[in-house]
Amino acid sequence: MVLSGMSSIEQLEENIAFMKDFQPLNEEEFALLDKAVEIIRSVETIPCTSCKYCTEVCPKDIAIPRIFGVLNEIKIYDKEHTWIPPFGERAASNCIKCGKCEKACPQHIEIRKYLEEAVKTLE
Ligand code: SF4
Ligand code: SF4
Repeated sequence: MVLSGMSSIEQLEENIAFMKDFQPLNEEEFALLDKAVEIIRSVETIPCTSCKYCTEVCPKDIAIPRIFGVLNEIKIYDKEHTWIPPFGERAASNCIKCGKCEKACPQHIEIRKYLEEAVKTLE
């Protein structure tokens, strides 16, 4: 699937020109992608879409989606190969467990539970 934002006729023409010699993936490449999907799906990650509805209501401005992104990276790769940014005041340990974020989350993620995991893993 190709997604491209276009706001002028020049951009549209440029995109069409670029796609003139488009080569679809071959069978070997499709097989490789299938394998990658299989591996990624075998790891249970946090289904956060980074919509940030939770951070809009969080009284402590905890960096919830960013924290979950790092946790997911560690789940998929490992801690050694994951950069853990300094979350400072927005770290999981500053969560007061009010639960406002969970009411706002369209994915119904147990945010407080995963933030506890983040404290143990990241801090
Ligand atoms: S439970 Fe924690 S992360 Fe969720 S809104 Fe309250 S303070 Fe923020
Ligand atoms: S509201 Fe839920 S899905 Fe959206 S960023 Fe927060 S945790 Fe992720």
